[in-house]
Amino acid sequence: MNALIEQLEISREEEEALVDTLQVWSSINSHSTNLAGLEKMLLTLDAAFSPLKAKSVRIKLPERNSFDNKGNKISRYSGDALQIKIRPEAPFQFLLAGHMDTVFEPQSPFQKAKLIADNRLHGPGVADMKGGILIMLTALKLFERLPFAKNIGWQVLLTPDEEIGSPSSEALYRQAAKETNIGLIFEPAFPDGNLVSARKGSANFLVVARGRAAHAGRDFHAGRSAIVALAHYIVLVHDLNSRYPSATLNIGKIEGGEAANIVPELASCHINIRANSSLELNQISEELQQITIKAIFAFTSTEDGITLTAYPHSRRDPKQFDQKTLLLFENVKQCGEVLKLDILWKESGGVSDGNILSAEGLPTVDTLGAVGGNLHTPNEYIEIKSLKERAQLTALLLSKYASHKDI
Ligand SMILES: [Zn+2]
Repeated sequence: MNALIEQLEISREEEEALVDTLQVWSSINSHSTNLAGLEKMLLTLDAAFSPLKAKSVRIKLPERNSFDNKGNKISRYSGDALQIKIRPEAPFQFLLAGHMDTVFEPQSPFQKAKLIADNRLHGPGVADMKGGILIMLTALKLFERLPFAKNIGWQVLLTPDEEIGSPSSEALYRQAAKETNIGLIFEPAFPDGNLVSARKGSANFLVVARGRAAHAGRDFHAGRSAIVALAHYIVLVHDLNSRYPSATLNIGKIEGGEAANIVPELASCHINIRANSSLELNQISEELQQITIKAIFAFTSTEDGITLTAYPHSRRDPKQFDQKTLLLFENVKQCGEVLKLDILWKESGGVSDGNILSAEGLPTVDTLGAVGGNLHTPNEYIEIKSLKERAQLTALLLSKYASHKDI
């Protein structure tokens, strides 16, 4: 075992080179809608993974469909994904996945990484999750040097649309789950180094109220206010929070109306539901639809011509922490002990691509990336030492399965 640990050693110079690489990657703006930036990131990663001598293929993803605030369908291109495979004929296969996109727009002032202390790097995507992709790459380089690497195969999946809910890459994840035995995703760990075990499921709706415009002074009574109908609906929906105490419903954005002297014809809101079970997610989604009818009834006695429509537009079922997933986590923990890392886990309300893999029955750890914090804010950072330690952790985990040995 000690010989193996020695082979997984990363020198001080190599560690510094990792930090340099991450600074370069962080300075490439790859917001989910920045197609030129995503393309640059894809080419950079393709070159970075090439020393592994695995077969890399870029995959054109289908367009994503969504709704504008009037409920009209719109389609947009999401960029390409990168899939890298080695030994696809081996009997045991790992999936290692990550996303290239970040939440920082090209106009954001947060565009570059910088050292903020000896042990911390601050920058866009350093934790979520360019640091995670670097950990994945480093782990694979360490692992591929080992003689028993040939016993297993792996595939890497790098996608451009996770931060907007993976609408275009979802099918690719489902397919990869069918081809592999274990899923590893390199989202950041919690700031204390813990992993995420179970995750809630999530469903999103756009609700559009349509009324009738009229001049507020001249013809007020001929108008039908979409804003008042929507406001009525929102209060009824918010009340569901007290009926489903383990779930949450958040009305996150509202829009509507044009000017104070016009009865508003159109109003819309975005609703996010999170629940622990698929059943509960279904029940609440069904109630949202029922409430549109209830809210309209409240008006029809006095006001005709108002409609409310709830458009479901993305959904993730919960990530379950079942027996085979627990076994995988215990293996990660055991590898952590060898490296003197105390690996623990806890639940999270946030969803990830791990929810998709779990829905396909693939045991998955989805927080094997960097240890860091303040994700999705201009204060995002990573603990530099986690680049080395988490890369060794994944390399050791791969070794455990490839060598069929208790490490
Ligand atoms: Zn992420």
